[in-house]
Amino acid sequence: MPNSLFKIDHLSKVFSDGTVAIDDVSLELKKNQVYVIIGPSGSGKSTLLRTLNLMEKPTHGHIFKDDQDITLKSYPIEKHRERVGMVFQNFNLFPHMTVLDNINSAQIHVLKRDIQAATQVSLGLLEQVGLLEKKNHYPNQLSGGQKQRIAIARALSMHPEVMLFDEPTSALDPEMIGEVLSVMKNLVHSGMTMIVVTHEMGFAKAFADEIIVMDKGKVIEQGTPEVIFNTPKEPRTAAFLKSVLNPL
Ligand code: ADP
Ligand code: MG
Repeated sequence: MPNSLFKIDHLSKVFSDGTVAIDDVSLELKKNQVYVIIGPSGSGKSTLLRTLNLMEKPTHGHIFKDDQDITLKSYPIEKHRERVGMVFQNFNLFPHMTVLDNINSAQIHVLKRDIQAATQVSLGLLEQVGLLEKKNHYPNQLSGGQKQRIAIARALSMHPEVMLFDEPTSALDPEMIGEVLSVMKNLVHSGMTMIVVTHEMGFAKAFADEIIVMDKGKVIEQGTPEVIFNTPKEPRTAAFLKSVLNPL
């Protein structure tokens, strides 16, 4: 299939303490699509993203990217991580580096760009996320929303093929969620392939091509936002959506 990006084949992840985080998941994720993964806490969403980025090694099963098995020992992990950008709940910026150095760093050390070329790319990205004037600030001088926009810019500096987001707005004060979602919306419009774990159902409704519902390490349902929100097949999907949309 030419536009397949990841083919996940009977994937399981069992941690050393016996916790089954992913339980026999098979999925095909296509290029230029936006996937939103939802499900209760502990259902395996983060672990699934982390295996796609090879931060976790699967226990069983395989993940193919462009028909290559990325779970093989011989697969170049560092090269893979250049192609797969990841944004975390807690930003993970380097605290001792300015904003500009944070965005330059991987370009210089991984892509071997010289500092002028890296800076040019970084300034363009800072403009894209609306934070050019913060280029010489340190992360602790920024709000949470600003830090997350910088983290997105840093991931984009590698020109990734796909961006993984793990609850990118969950650590933010409510008034800062919009500015991060707005940067993500612009990425959707640029055609970026995105796999987003989020509880922001407005984002999911508006931008997901497909919603993937997880529970207890399994994908229990997947479909368009229309189907998942209006006519979910699984009672557990309906119950989860109710808990998020009408917590009272
Ligand atoms: P989610 O992101 O959906 O909240 P996670 O993928 O973080 O779920 O976790 C899935 C399950 O795996 C949970 O039961 C969690 O406690 C467990 N888990 C996650 N990371 C580890 C780890 N490093 N060691 C042991 N158990 C883990
Ligand atoms: Mg998680």
